[in-house]
Amino acid sequence: MATINTNYQKLQAGYLFPEIGKRVRNFAAANPAARIIRLGIGDVVLPLPAPIIDAMKAGVDEMARKETFQGYGPEQGHEFLREAIAGHFRGQGAEVAADEVFVSDGSKCDTANIQEIFAVDNIIAVTDPVYPVYVDTNVMAGRTGPAENGRYGKLVYLPTTAENGFEPALPSGHVDLIYLCSPNNPTGAVMSRASLQRWVDYAKREGAIILFDAAYEAFIREPGLVHSIFEIPGARNVAIEFRSFSKTAGFTGTRCAFTVIPKELCARDGAGVPVPLHSLWNRRHTTKFNGVSYPVQRAAAAVFSPEGSKAVQANIDYYMENARIIREGLAKAGYRVHGGVNGPYIWLRVPEGLTSWQFFDRLLGEANVVGTPGSGFGTCGEGYFRLSAFGFRENVE
Ligand SMILES: *Cc1c(COP(=O)(O)O)cnc(C)c1O
Repeated sequence: MATINTNYQKLQAGYLFPEIGKRVRNFAAANPAARIIRLGIGDVVLPLPAPIIDAMKAGVDEMARKETFQGYGPEQGHEFLREAIAGHFRGQGAEVAADEVFVSDGSKCDTANIQEIFAVDNIIAVTDPVYPVYVDTNVMAGRTGPAENGRYGKLVYLPTTAENGFEPALPSGHVDLIYLCSPNNPTGAVMSRASLQRWVDYAKREGAIILFDAAYEAFIREPGLVHSIFEIPGARNVAIEFRSFSKTAGFTGTRCAFTVIPKELCARDGAGVPVPLHSLWNRRHTTKFNGVSYPVQRAAAAVFSPEGSKAVQANIDYYMENARIIREGLAKAGYRVHGGVNGPYIWLRVPEGLTSWQFFDRLLGEANVVGTPGSGFGTCGEGYFRLSAFGFRENVE
């Protein structure tokens, strides 16, 4: 009989969102008159702006004519989009070439798949709390021991809490791969330039690779903060960056993202010889992926046009005004709140004596508001609660 990948049996049931759904359904059934406000989701609500939709429609029209029809495109993405992305990085003070950009159908897949090009005995560091994709995919690949008290063996957890200003400390020992997400989901915090420089220096010293998830970089409001890891001197030798059009431009249902791998970035093979990760990822990507739909790539390129970027910025402004309203309202009500200034998530301290789940039940029961218990993102998330700025203004108010 065929046998399974038993690493899957180590996975803790992904019970956070199903459990939230169950509790909300039960509450709604018992309280049919209650108007439930959902601020738990990490999904956008505003429709795609007109310049983006127009570009998508123009792409569809091209598909309808013999002269402009497109079949398979380059797996790595069309030149027009890769060039536009590279130009955007240059505008942010980061050196990225168009052929270092790999266009894909999502950052979830990219951050999940990247571990494939690394050996199974690499030591992995993640922050706690964490976006669960980084952890679960390494569990599936066999890079962890079994879970005990919510933590997997062999994984190095980096506590990221109010006590350390949401700046994870460097590991005390050696690690090979480090997942960092800034602005952060779920805490809404942005890592400082100085701390990112410390991470780049650590990676250089230890021969480690930083996997930098910048899915929320477009939400940074304050000047001087780091949008791309490649703004940091030395990062091109130690880092991979992931970005997505999902939250930035409302593409969660449209699907487009990209990964940047600098050509000089290397990891060692079994004989200790440095191998460029760009060529490995190119091999993986071209073997397992056949490109993003042409009209979607046209729509994505429009995000960088003057009209497109203005429209996208207006949507981000809308969400960040939501964030301000939530943050300031809660602070006035006496809550300790974090995030919500340079990222679309508000990370609040639950009242003394309550767990994250107890607060979830109380908020749902008394205010009819749905959020996400911080403990669902890791042990260090206990005592915290995530509210999302992705909602309609009237609900937020
Ligand atoms: C939403 C999100 C992404 C983007 O996922 P897509 O697959 O591109 O929609 C990536 N990383 C984090 C931390 C996210 O919250």
